[in-house]
Amino acid sequence: MSQTVIIGAGPAGLTAAWELSRHGRDAVVFEQDDLVGGISRTCEYNGYRFDIGGHRFFTKVEKVQELWLEMLDTEFLVRPRLSRIYYDNKFFHYPLKPMNALLGLGPIEAVRIGVSYLWAQAFPVQNEKTFEDWVINRFGRRLSEIFFKTYTEKVWGMSWKEITADWAAQRIKDLDLISAVRQALLGNMMTRGKVITTLIEEFHYPEHGPGEMWESCTRRLAAKGVETHLEHRVVSVEWGDGRVNAVTVEAADGTTKRVEGDHFLSSMPIRTLLHAMDPAPPKAVIEAADKLRYRDYLTVILVLDQEEVFPDNWIYIHSPDVLLGRIQNYKNWSPAMVADPTKTALGLEYFVQEDDEVWSARDEDLIELGKKECEQLGLANGADVIDGTVIRMPKAYPVYDDVYQDALGEIREWLGAEAPNMQLIGRNGQHRYNNQDHSMMTAVLAAENIVAGTDAHDVWDVNVEDEYHEEVQAGENTSTSGDRAVPSSVEADTITELIEDAFARYDAVALGSAVGVLSGLGLFLATAALLVAGAAPGTEVGPTLSLLGNFLVGFEATWAGAFIGLAEAGVAGYCVGFMMAKLINFVIAVEEQRIVRGVEEQAVDLFEGSDR
Ligand SMILES: Cc1cc2nc3c(=O)[nH]c(=O)nc-3n(C[C@H](O)[C@H](O)[C@H](O)COP(=O)(O)OP(=O)(O)OC[C@H]3O[C@@H](n4cnc5c(N)ncnc54)[C@H](O)[C@@H]3O)c2cc1C
Repeated sequence: MSQTVIIGAGPAGLTAAWELSRHGRDAVVFEQDDLVGGISRTCEYNGYRFDIGGHRFFTKVEKVQELWLEMLDTEFLVRPRLSRIYYDNKFFHYPLKPMNALLGLGPIEAVRIGVSYLWAQAFPVQNEKTFEDWVINRFGRRLSEIFFKTYTEKVWGMSWKEITADWAAQRIKDLDLISAVRQALLGNMMTRGKVITTLIEEFHYPEHGPGEMWESCTRRLAAKGVETHLEHRVVSVEWGDGRVNAVTVEAADGTTKRVEGDHFLSSMPIRTLLHAMDPAPPKAVIEAADKLRYRDYLTVILVLDQEEVFPDNWIYIHSPDVLLGRIQNYKNWSPAMVADPTKTALGLEYFVQEDDEVWSARDEDLIELGKKECEQLGLANGADVIDGTVIRMPKAYPVYDDVYQDALGEIREWLGAEAPNMQLIGRNGQHRYNNQDHSMMTAVLAAENIVAGTDAHDVWDVNVEDEYHEEVQAGENTSTSGDRAVPSSVEADTITELIEDAFARYDAVALGSAVGVLSGLGLFLATAALLVAGAAPGTEVGPTLSLLGNFLVGFEATWAGAFIGLAEAGVAGYCVGFMMAKLINFVIAVEEQRIVRGVEEQAVDLFEGSDR
């Protein structure tokens, strides 16, 4: 029977193995590290467990949720989320809560934020290219500088002007200031029928961390005869005659072996994969691979002799005075993450480059740095730290810059022609800044392609936020599972669509322009009519109209004034029309929320009243 060779035992690789074995297909997994889970692993140190950054299990994809429930043989906890932003020596709730933000920032800052938001709404950046453009268009410059700029620049190690708008669109989906305010006022997670990803307030979490999911999955795979070989690094990928034929794996003791296969699934970083191809791909393809950049990650674990340190799962550190980007409190993710309930383990997260000073620093020095920064922020006392360790994770983040898409395009084209039996899956496998659910869906579809013997699913098109999978099912019918990718908000979507049909939204720019043109021209014509009729300054009507000069700077009932009035009344009218449209849309949205909630409550009642 045909064998599939899978590179990497992260969520993507293990999910692919799971799906193949479910269909009775042979698969073998090679993992370079000595534990499974990839970036979603759980590390252990002296009985304290911690993630590579806390890993929430949250998905809108029913298939993924089902897989998690099937794979995990221990408890899948539902945990509340508390995360705050630390800025200017104060804590702010994240997701932002308007009252909390207003009180924390003070009234003057609040006015500045409001004005800058209105300005951004009236004069948005037309062609959003950068992260800066994207957030300013949605939150205004002032709020964006406070709550998005510093942290994002820490994570990516580059200016917000260099980060592409794609990244923001993918990570802060559907959220803008109005949505955040609406969420705060209504306490409802639905906006236009969609769940706002950033606002999720609860999540699933395996009792002993994310690694437990993947350890459990590996055990179950082994029971079904699917082997996962740890400390086996794929060092070369042999190709020729329009296909991949074999890989060479190197074990920890330096021995190598050649493993043949019919199908290959790779979740290793694309840049490394292309360099492992044997013979080497054309120069242009290697150059494209070398354009793909990564951001690396390091976490300093501090064990404190303190039962309670802070109540959050994690805190974003927006202060530019420290290198620290975020702090996790693993005990608040699951009480089982600490060896001793009277102690706390914090994970201090640093976003770095593999060869920079922080990455290369000695562990002892990093632990000292961590203690110092915690004290500086007033979050913990260095004297309470009784133990610590450091974990480094290279290539934690694939970078979205302005060259990566073209580079990917070139690589995909070459692989499609020369290695069609190798599918790229997962996060670094596709150079996609994704969560576990996305990685898993690429694996599910790749496995379905193998089972069906077709390339019906385009694994690059997976978008866990939209209806892609439904389209595929309708078209190709290769899915044996009949799974729906985005089922959770369908009813709400349908209702919302009906409401949207009934109450069409106003186009703010169009209404602004219309009111602007009418106001400007109206005033101009009125002034001109008075002037032509002889109602010049000094007559009775002239001064009356000139009173408008109290509102419009430089306006008077003269020909020069008529043109000034045209311009100023035009701009003022635009702003009024624009804000009117926004206000009307807001009211409709509030009403829509109310109706959707009402219908949902009725649906729940109906369901509970039935025998099911
Ligand atoms: C700080 C941080 C926080 C995150 N938080 C969340 C979260 O809250 N929720 C969530 O769902 N996701 C989160 N993620 C994303 C999540 O970690 C990834 O989406 C997921 O782990 C990707 O799975 P993968 O299998 O595609 O890749 P990986 O996890 O990268 O696994 C790839 C595996 O391939 C192995 N490998 C690489 N090269 C070779 C080779 N040559 N030979 C053999 N093996 C090789 C690697 O060692 C690794 O084990 C977070 C990521 C980071 C960095």
